[in-house]
Amino acid sequence: LMFADGPLTQPPNLAALVRLAGTTAAVDRAIRLTEQQAGNLITTAAVKMDQDSQHGLDATFGLVVLLLTAVAALTLLLYRGVRNPMRALAERARRFSEGDFSLRGYGRLPSEIAEVSAALDDAIRNFDQLKTQADALATGELSHPALRRAVPGKLGESLFHSVTRVSELQRRLVHEARHDALTGLYNRRAAIEALGMSLAKVEGGTGVGVMFIDLDDFKQVNDVHGHRAGDEVLATTAERLLALVRPSDRVCRLGGDEFLVLIGPGTTIDSSVRLAARLIASLEVPITTAVATVRVSASAGIAVSDPGRPATTSELLGEADAAVYRAKAEGRGNIRVFDRQMRLDRNADREMVAELESSLLSGRDLHLVYQPTLLVADGRCDRLEALCRWDRPGHGPVPPDVFIRAAERSDLIIELDRWVLNQACRQLADWKADPDLGALALQVNISGRHLGRGILVPDVLQATRAHDVPAGMLIIELTETSVVDRPDLASDELNELRSHGTRTALDDFGTGYTSISQLGRVAVDILKIDRSFLLSEDSHGDRGPVIGLVIDVAHAMGMTVVAEGVEVASHFNLLSSLGCDMAQGYFLARPMPEEDLRDWFRNPVDRTRRARLSAV
Ligand code: C2E
Ligand code: MG
Ligand code: MG
Repeated sequence: LMFADGPLTQPPNLAALVRLAGTTAAVDRAIRLTEQQAGNLITTAAVKMDQDSQHGLDATFGLVVLLLTAVAALTLLLYRGVRNPMRALAERARRFSEGDFSLRGYGRLPSEIAEVSAALDDAIRNFDQLKTQADALATGELSHPALRRAVPGKLGESLFHSVTRVSELQRRLVHEARHDALTGLYNRRAAIEALGMSLAKVEGGTGVGVMFIDLDDFKQVNDVHGHRAGDEVLATTAERLLALVRPSDRVCRLGGDEFLVLIGPGTTIDSSVRLAARLIASLEVPITTAVATVRVSASAGIAVSDPGRPATTSELLGEADAAVYRAKAEGRGNIRVFDRQMRLDRNADREMVAELESSLLSGRDLHLVYQPTLLVADGRCDRLEALCRWDRPGHGPVPPDVFIRAAERSDLIIELDRWVLNQACRQLADWKADPDLGALALQVNISGRHLGRGILVPDVLQATRAHDVPAGMLIIELTETSVVDRPDLASDELNELRSHGTRTALDDFGTGYTSISQLGRVAVDILKIDRSFLLSEDSHGDRGPVIGLVIDVAHAMGMTVVAEGVEVASHFNLLSSLGCDMAQGYFLARPMPEEDLRDWFRNPVDRTRRARLSAV
């Protein structure tokens, strides 16, 4: 029998175990045969005795009778001592093969059978453990105690190997979900968790500090030295920050060139500012990358939870964010602490958002103005950009940069985008029969927050269908940063929009981190070059080649190029010489209310200007 050599070292062979049942039957048959043969011998002896009785009893024959009687007795003993335990063993093997792993005692057994029984028990135990391990693996309970050691044998080893691999994979996934791949720092999610835990620990509001650190010139590094060098700068930044904080502080990377240092609990504004100064000084030391030595500077924004004022994670993050925003607005290498004035400003901001929300609900106080986009070649205009205006009750007009940025802090911007989409489609429907305006397309700005939620396409189609205008009359503008941050996600939605005939435009190109070589990954038809490219032309006479390069690459990718911010004739001439397709700017036309548009289209002065433009 396969178990006779003691405990199992190989996985038990189920088929052999089942054969045990057959073996019992064979033993049964052997016993029965022996009984039969013993009976035969006794009968033969009796007959012989009868025959020999005439000649008298012979001593040898007596001995034979004695021997045969002993055989019969032994057979009976064997029958009792072996058959029942063997049957029980066979039954257990059968149940085991059917998946019943329970072990039961059999009392005293003959030693050979006890050995077989022990081997069978071992096999059952091992199988039971293998099953528990497989169950734990299948349900992902990788810390299950059964998975701590391998079951002996090849099957056990191979399962244990799988467990080790799955555990390693899971450990890596958990790590990746909480860490930034480039720098190995905590990512945004882990930062929020850590801050939440730190705040939960704080008794009586003792300071938990949040410090945003934002590199000032990072875009420049990417543009000039390439993304590899950019990555090296980010990795070095991470190392330098880590080298200066205490072990209890946490350094995180939120994305791009935004870092977050969580300080404390137990910090004060003063000590946080001192730390910020040390960190910023360390980042100003030139960084040597594979291609060049680069210099960056950084700004910091700090918020510390006040004693007695319970702060939430999002409040503190929002405050530090507002502080770094202010620091950057004031120049390079600055440190700003979120203070009372900023709190007042934030509250004012919240009030403004609440009022914008009620203006959106009522539909009053908001309207669109339209800025023509002209073809550079002949000055014709076939599209207008719809721009939102808000007349805040009791305050007057609020600049779009202000109220749009405030709305973008929450999903209110999505409501605003929907309002603009509907308003734009209503306008297109109104113009349908107009000889001047009927064929115009409208460019509508959509916030990055609107992307990636599966609502952009339904929102656009809802608006076009509600007003019965073709989806092809809309051009959806998304800023470079909102699209390029997540090109794959954005591309699916933008491609779906394009399948309905709506064109897509990348707005404010040049303000994000896109290198022109990345443009091929973005599903847009139109590239709008940010006005900073033209505005900086006077101070750096070399803007022309850069704009020319962007235009050439965009053309090679089949995009139409629009230049924004054409403020003087020289801008227009430059664009014309560089082969730019379209232009938009105060020199050509300012954003205007609907009622002025017809005049603009018919105005002979403008017509002359356009004729002059086309002759350039
Ligand atoms: P944008 O989409 O890049 O719009 C162009 C902005 O540049 C407009 O500012 C326009 O008035 C301004 N502009 C046009 N030509 C010139 C020029 O020659 N020189 C200068 N200095 N500026 C020029 P506006 O209307 O203040 O809008 C600012 C930004 O606000 C827009 O930038 C857009 O990002 C956002 N925005 C405006 N309306 C909406 C809207 O309805 N929805 C969303 N989501 N965002 C909007
Ligand atoms: Mg725009
Ligand atoms: Mg723009």
